[in-house]
Amino acid sequence: MAVGAHPDDVEVGAGGLVAKLCQAGRRVAVVDLSAGELASNGTVAERRQEAGRAGEILGLAWRCCLEIPDRGISSDLPYRRRLAAIIRQCRPRLILCPYWSDRHPDHVSACRLVQEAWFDAGLKKMAARQTPFRPNQIWYYFIAAIAEPRFIVDVSECYQTKKTAILAHQTQFGRHPGAAATFLNDGPGSLLATVESRDRYFGSLIGSMYGEGFTTLEPLAVGNPLALLEVPR
Ligand SMILES: [Zn+2]
Repeated sequence: MAVGAHPDDVEVGAGGLVAKLCQAGRRVAVVDLSAGELASNGTVAERRQEAGRAGEILGLAWRCCLEIPDRGISSDLPYRRRLAAIIRQCRPRLILCPYWSDRHPDHVSACRLVQEAWFDAGLKKMAARQTPFRPNQIWYYFIAAIAEPRFIVDVSECYQTKKTAILAHQTQFGRHPGAAATFLNDGPGSLLATVESRDRYFGSLIGSMYGEGFTTLEPLAVGNPLALLEVPR
């Protein structure tokens, strides 16, 4: 399960990994916490349609929007309950969530909400009619911020899919006549250019064309060290 604050966050930070997992036959769900209604461009209806199209391109099993107000994301109890219920329903082995530091406060709040809902989902006596479930791991992906990744996934083969999925959010990343110039769509320092440069850089660190960096709060356990040796450099 991949969680984003806005409908394009997962595509930007982890679209390559998500596409790779889907192509490997894994079932991936995306939960958008808000509909992104405060974005400078695009209506809620347009953004919903774009998210659906991006999900088809990635090959998602399921996508939903929790409709928490944009810039109102917090780990208040009702939101934690809503997300914990979805975690219990989907029972994912892994949660992908935004890195804990970012220029956009919603990305930071989304991270905190995921951490708290992840914890709550495992509490037997919390919403006791549901079956408790706590996923094994949370991996943090980068949106606007960057930090030293704990590991890098080679996403070269899925990179075109990632880019197509990002560009499906046309109101955000396209430059239509009348569209406002934003941090996402304008100039050589736009988010799209930043993401591609970053993914290319991460790729270069592992001898690949494109890589997505992730981090974790806890050390990653390696049951089969030989599996690490199978990754070509
Ligand atoms: Zn966002």
